[in-house]
Amino acid sequence: MSRTLDHLLDRNVAWADAKTRHDPEFFRRMEAQQTPHYLWIGCSDSRVTANDVLGLDPGEVFVHRNIANIVHTSDLNILSVLAFAVEHLRVQHVIVCGHYNCGGIVRALSDERGAMLDHWLQPVTVLYRKHRAVFDAMAPHVRLDRLCELNIEMQVRRLAATPIIENAWARGQELHLHGWIYAIGDGLIRDLGPHLSSIGERDNLRALDECVLAPSTPVIRAHRPAASCCGGQCGGGHDAG
Ligand code: ZN
Repeated sequence: MSRTLDHLLDRNVAWADAKTRHDPEFFRRMEAQQTPHYLWIGCSDSRVTANDVLGLDPGEVFVHRNIANIVHTSDLNILSVLAFAVEHLRVQHVIVCGHYNCGGIVRALSDERGAMLDHWLQPVTVLYRKHRAVFDAMAPHVRLDRLCELNIEMQVRRLAATPIIENAWARGQELHLHGWIYAIGDGLIRDLGPHLSSIGERDNLRALDECVLAPSTPVIRAHRPAASCCGGQCGGGHDAG
């Protein structure tokens, strides 16, 4: 095994060359400032990278990622990112984007305990245990898909409860929160919700416990023919890689 990472550094040079081939000023523009309109809060999973799945260039999306895209309201990392994005960059949209077949959610559904990861996943685990009878009545792939979706709905709610978001809305700043889910198996994002743009909308949101019994429907923007067992109507979760 090589001690150096020359192959990655070579790829970096090739990438920078390709970027400037048709746009010689690209990096000089980047150097001047960043003005992203979006904050992406996603999973650390190596297959779900914000710029790639959104088709955006550097400079277009501010990013925070952690295992299972959890919004811990005592996490200085996410709070610092959120405050900087909202108060300094003044992003207009905050997107919580999870994904089907999330390893963090698989762990939360398991009976394994005691690792640091289990502390991190506690909000998801608590939701699962609270409604265990409902979840355990589902087929395993449906259970995993549903908890992946509910985790996103929960994190949007937690985000909307932070003073950073509340204060932005209170002072009249335009700021929209979105809950999305990505399917690794087809590369497409589903709009799951909730969509929140004000304290009033947040306060009128149905309780997460209700969502467990009456799931939201993930909306895909453009269906493509899928070679799966259900023609892509399942939400794409159980056939994801
Ligand atoms: Zn994940």
